[in-house]
Amino acid sequence: MNKELFALIDRLAADHSLSLSQYRQLIDGRTEELAAYAASLAVKVRKEIYGNQVFIRGLIEVSNICKNDCLYCGIRRSNHHCQRYHLSAEEILECCREGYALGFRTFVLQGGEDPYFTDELLCNLIVRIKEAYPDCAVTLSLGERTRQSYERLRNAGADRYLLRHETADEAHYQKLHPAAMKFGERMRCLRDLKELGYQVGCGFMVGSPYQTSAELAKDLKFVEEFSPDMCGIGPFIPQSDTPFGTEKAGTLELTCYLLSLLRLIKPNLLLPSTTALGTIHPSGRELGIRAGANVVMPNLSPQSVRKKYALYDNKISDGSEAAECKAELAGRMASIGYEVVTARGDIQK
Ligand code: SAH
Repeated sequence: MNKELFALIDRLAADHSLSLSQYRQLIDGRTEELAAYAASLAVKVRKEIYGNQVFIRGLIEVSNICKNDCLYCGIRRSNHHCQRYHLSAEEILECCREGYALGFRTFVLQGGEDPYFTDELLCNLIVRIKEAYPDCAVTLSLGERTRQSYERLRNAGADRYLLRHETADEAHYQKLHPAAMKFGERMRCLRDLKELGYQVGCGFMVGSPYQTSAELAKDLKFVEEFSPDMCGIGPFIPQSDTPFGTEKAGTLELTCYLLSLLRLIKPNLLLPSTTALGTIHPSGRELGIRAGANVVMPNLSPQSVRKKYALYDNKISDGSEAAECKAELAGRMASIGYEVVTARGDIQK
């Protein structure tokens, strides 16, 4: 047992901050015992803030049309095997109607960077959702847009925005994205979103190609400094029609460990146990919660499009992953001592 590493975990829990080299030490030195210790502290601190509550978000995958060409992503522009779709405003409203009846009080509109979703269309849609469901939060996850666009959407009533930074290391960012996509632009978007008063989510993939503990340490430092309201992390999973189609997937163990460290960095962080985690392991979702996550985002998209939103291979979309099977999800969470709640689930300040 390496006492120094256990002491570093204690220090993180007390100070919510470590140096880059200490984060790296923790990542390199991970053992089952160390991870179990980090998880126990993470669960304890989360319990103090959120009790045993797990927040749910209805995820509506509004479009798989994307002008970008991210090397890891199955809906990248160059993937000609992807059957493209987007949902109409009416279809999205129908998803919200179903979701509301099921007890969802946050709707997440996520999709590729699809020019169909103009500011005008989105603003009208957001206003209609907020009128119909004033007690619900609207979260957008539609990629990079101008500050003016983010401002319009915010004024129309959008509450939150998810934009994963993907990696906090610029050189690594350029290895995962085509030259046309710039790290600085990603950061500009995140800053703008925060300044405009959104609850902001960043996030990264675990085990993406070329990633080492040095990049992950930077991700942790970035979360510490940027202090987002949410942070989405999940294992990288190869998608066979992409340039990274034969790369190795990230692991359950490292993802769960990082969830625990993130919880200790920012105790009130909204931390989803992601679909990707549920995809690489049958109990991934539960294990994520037990490591310190407190959010799950079941799929509320129309059945007919779920298979088409194929960010990575074998992405799960049925069983407790599906919004209509909320009872199954609630049962699985109850079996590990957690309660799925009907609430907006804002960050506890
Ligand atoms: N266009 C939006 C939504 C992208 S999809 C945006 O830019 O934010 C949501 C997330 O899925 C991405 O941010 C990425 O981190 C993740 N993702 C994409 N491909 C993946 C893969 N192969 N494995 C794991 N996660 C992936």
